[in-house]
Formats: sequence, structure tokens, C-alpha cells
Amino acid sequence: MSLTLHVDGARWRAHLTEQKAAHPGLVPVLKGNGYGFGLPRLAEESTRLGVDTVAVGLYEEVAEVSAHFPGDVVVLNPWRPFGTAVETDPDSRLIHTVGRPGDLAALRERDPDARFIVELATSMLRHGFDARGLRAEAAAYGGFADQPLEGVTLHLPMVASGNLGEAMRLMNDVVAADLDTRRLWVSHLGGTELATFRARFGEYDVRPRIGTGLWLGDRGCLRVTATVLDAHPVARGDVFGYRGRSAPREGTVLVVSGGTAHGVGLESPTGDLSLKARAASLARGGLDAVGFVRSPYSVEGKLRLFAEPPHMQTSMLYLPAGAPVPEIGAEVDVRVRYTATDFDRVEIST
Ligand SMILES: *Cc1c(COP(=O)(O)O)cnc(C)c1O
Repeated sequence: MSLTLHVDGARWRAHLTEQKAAHPGLVPVLKGNGYGFGLPRLAEESTRLGVDTVAVGLYEEVAEVSAHFPGDVVVLNPWRPFGTAVETDPDSRLIHTVGRPGDLAALRERDPDARFIVELATSMLRHGFDARGLRAEAAAYGGFADQPLEGVTLHLPMVASGNLGEAMRLMNDVVAADLDTRRLWVSHLGGTELATFRARFGEYDVRPRIGTGLWLGDRGCLRVTATVLDAHPVARGDVFGYRGRSAPREGTVLVVSGGTAHGVGLESPTGDLSLKARAASLARGGLDAVGFVRSPYSVEGKLRLFAEPPHMQTSMLYLPAGAPVPEIGAEVDVRVRYTATDFDRVEIST
């Protein structure tokens, strides 16, 4: 009755172990919907992997993760003197990210022992000090000597041409800031680039933060299914759905689990939407011409059309006459974006 993520447990865990071996100092990233798996499960897997630190996106995610993981927890979003950050109790396992003049002073006022990382802005321009700001902050604190500084962080963009050049340039700024740390947290530096970077900055303890490539790096061990809940034969002109639309032709309205609450959305329309293309499709009897939109559900290996836009927890598909109709209770495959889907169940085989 549900939208289910099936995981080949042995293969998934083999991939996680492989990733850990390939990325010394790995810091798993656990945030949002837990990449489809949920935060508690990823926290447990991180514990099993034996890493010493994980990263979450938000302060709101700390409690759920630290309940299932015994090590340190880095918060990727910068600490700010407002919101959940200031409502979070001091915790010796928590590592804050600081990236703005004045924030460190405000953080230390609330928690003098707060462990922190300083962030240098990259070309992403999301968060972090600029080079001059980092130098000024470091100078004001004597390079943060004798302080719980846990390193410096770079959140690099994902550019096709690679971002090693940018990482190397930014290291000039890091070195110039004269920080009392040799730990560097990096995101989105690929395999060979990371190796080159490490070789060049051998005196640094490099901590690669990885989410997608770790949890979702081996798609072959993941399968998403929905349950067929009902099937209604329709003749041309029969009315169905919230909007009382009528069937363009004989076929089957197939009711399946999964809807907007799970993150199941309308896919982009099938192909060419020009009037000419629609007219041609209409002449062929194509269903896209009558406004049916492609769905992410596949039946018998073929992506099917939505009979109408997905409902909150259920979707209605249209199967043309002649297409095999799966039995009620059968599972059909669904294509999803893992980071944007809330599954009803996650089944990990052992
Ligand atoms: C989300 C995030 C990551 C992990 O990104 P993936 O593409 O999922 O590996 C790393 N660093 C920062 C700062 C992030 O926000």
C-alpha cells in the first residue's frame, strides 16, 4: 500500500565501506530527508561505518542524528545569533560553522567552549568570510591559537571542468590568514582532484564531506516501487478523477500509491509541445495531445501517463487498451529524486 525504497543491504553496505576506504577522513553528510533513507538510519549506518564525525545541514537536525551516532556532529549551515542555533544547548559533540564577522564573538558569549570551524567563501557565494574578512577575524583572535578551532572549510561548486584550481587558489587565502589549524573540510572535490590536493597540502588533515556519492553512489542497489491499489476499465467518454475529465479512449485507469505528499510530481510533458507536434500527435491518436502528462511510474517496463495530476498520497495512471493491467497488490517501479522523496517504507535486505 505504500511507496517503498528497497535496498540491497549487502551491496549498499559494501559500497559505503568502499567509499570510506577510498576517502580517508570521510565525513558522511546527513541532511534533509536523509537522501531518502531518513536521518536516523543514516546516523546508524555512520556508526556502523566507524567514522568519528558526521555533518548535518541544520541545527534542527542535530538531535535526531546525535541520538543514533556517538561521535561529533558538524552543522554545515553557519551559526547565526538567531533562530534554532541560539536555542541549541551547549554540547561538546557539536561543531559550529562560523563565517561572518561578529558571529564568533556572539557564539562564544553564549558558549565559551563552543568548538567551531571557520568558513571561507568560494565561488558559490553561499556562506563564509571573504579572504580579507578571514584574515581580519584570525588576526583579531591571534590565529585562534588555544581556541577550540576545528579547522577551515570550503564548500566548492560542482563544475564540470573540476574545481581543483579554485581549491588551490583558495588555499593561498587560507595560508595567508595564518590560522592555528591544519585541518581542512572540503565538499565536492572529486576523487583524483582530492588526491592531487592532498599531495600538494600534505601537512593538512583533509576531511572530505560526502552525501550523494556515499548514500546514493550505487543506484543499482536501490529500487523504488509503488503498489497497485485499484484498476478501472474505462470506455471512451467515461468520466473519472477530481476534475471530471473523460477518457479519450478505451483503456484502464490504474490507481497506484504515491502522490504529492511523497514528492511525486508531474514530469515534464512528453517531448515537443509545439502546436504542430501536438496536431501530429493528435492525428496519431497520441495521448499527450489530449493533455496527458508523463508520470514517473512504469508498468511493464514503460513509463505511463498520469490520467490526472497526482493526488496527495495516490496517483491515477492511464493505460491504453491492450496494455497488460497489473494485478491489484502488484508492485510497479517508480523513478524518483531520492533527495526529494519521502518514502513510506525503507526496506533494507540483510
Ligand atoms: C549538502 C552538502 C554537502 C554534501 O553534498 P552532496 O552533493 O550530497 O555530496 C557537502 N557540503 C555542504 C556544505 C553541503 O551543504
